[in-house]
Amino acid sequence: MTAITNHLPTAELQALDAAHHMHPFTHGDGMNAKGARIITRARGVTLTDSDGNEILDAMAGLWCVNIGYGRDELAEVAARQMRELPYYNTFFQTSHVPAIALATRLAELTPGDLNHVFYAGSGSEANDTNIRMVRTYWAEKGAPERNIIIARKNGYHGSSMGSASLGGMGGMHAQGGMPIPDIHHIDQPHWYAEGGDTDPEAFGLARARQLEEKIEELGPHRIAAFIGEPVQGAGGVIIPPDSYWPEIQRICDKYGILLIADEVICGFGRTGNWFGSQTYGIRPDIMTIAKGLSSGYAPIGGSIVSDEVARVLNGCEFNHGYTYSGHPVSCAVALENLRILDEEGIVTRVADETAPYLKEKWESLAAHPMVGEARIVGLMGSLALTPDKSARAKFASDPGTVGYICRERCFANNLVMRHVGDRMIISPPLVISKAEIDTLVGRAWRSLDEAERQVRDAGLMQAAA
Ligand SMILES: *Cc1c(COP(=O)(O)O)cnc(C)c1O
Repeated sequence: MTAITNHLPTAELQALDAAHHMHPFTHGDGMNAKGARIITRARGVTLTDSDGNEILDAMAGLWCVNIGYGRDELAEVAARQMRELPYYNTFFQTSHVPAIALATRLAELTPGDLNHVFYAGSGSEANDTNIRMVRTYWAEKGAPERNIIIARKNGYHGSSMGSASLGGMGGMHAQGGMPIPDIHHIDQPHWYAEGGDTDPEAFGLARARQLEEKIEELGPHRIAAFIGEPVQGAGGVIIPPDSYWPEIQRICDKYGILLIADEVICGFGRTGNWFGSQTYGIRPDIMTIAKGLSSGYAPIGGSIVSDEVARVLNGCEFNHGYTYSGHPVSCAVALENLRILDEEGIVTRVADETAPYLKEKWESLAAHPMVGEARIVGLMGSLALTPDKSARAKFASDPGTVGYICRERCFANNLVMRHVGDRMIISPPLVISKAEIDTLVGRAWRSLDEAERQVRDAGLMQAAA
């Protein structure tokens, strides 16, 4: 067998990648024609590719490398755990120290009475768990007809059948027969794109009240839960109006339905608090966690549930679990990650220093001729690209055409900034320094300038009718 190393020429790696590796969320032929960018190593906030380029990763991988790349402590912990107990399961009345220690720590960190962790291997798995958990909860309480879960259009909750059904991504639902039954979607609190002439706070209230309307339409006795991300991430970093979450909370309380906060991105410091629920005053019955839980160093996710949810579920045998629920290496890595986040004051530093610093710089991008809005909370931000700022106009081209051009300019300028349609988004590692923030915003400006020129030259600076 050929040894495949970082030292092979890029073109050779790309050819093997194209021949044998199928990528998630990727048009295979399109990518294979030009070759994937191959990342070989990373430190702090900086990636190195196979051609030696140093790239500022303003996405923290996929929103997950909260403590930054290259922390030896996590590698040490993983190696130690692999030697001591590389694997054991938590089915059939067994447990192990890493699973216990991490669950205990999570119970301390999470707000309210979220004191009980059910482990999964990812955010998708955890949200699949949540579907079965809330339906089982109501069945155990003698209300099996309460099986409907209400979610939001353009929400993202993962890519498995259950979690993608909770999500509201049309492109995903179109492939493979989703959503599964008894999942309903209401509109998102996306004022910039959908708010028209209404005041943002009034719009936030109206969008939250769609939950009440949907509950009344379907019958309150049928509703098990509502799920939402405190801030929609993959949908384009959609920051809700302040009026939104308090109204959602009021409605969930009024009808006694379970509130699931999907904290997979917002959790572990992203919004300047440990959890997005704290930033937005949400009191969830269940939280989904993954990504920043281990800073992406090992795959792990989970559902943290309230005392009441745990009490009811513990009253039955819950016929559900994953081989890697509570994987000892992942738990040990996550615990070390939480120690570093806490002891190095990383979350506090985001709130007190880097988030305010980035906010000022980021919002200054709104002065760019092609930027219709620049918004940010904590260290997750978005730009809406537009051909006409005053009208908040969309481009006449297919959604994502201009966003893709801008993303390509970012890549060329050694900045990873993603596009969702014609929105540009960032979510850098929480350890980003002020100097690195200057670099990030500088490269973003340059990329926007270059993209604008390219868009004009291609005749794409046209508003949709
Ligand atoms: C990424 C994500 C998920 C899915 O997590 P995976 O680990 O990719 O399965 C779920 N919810 C949200 C909010 C996410 O951003």
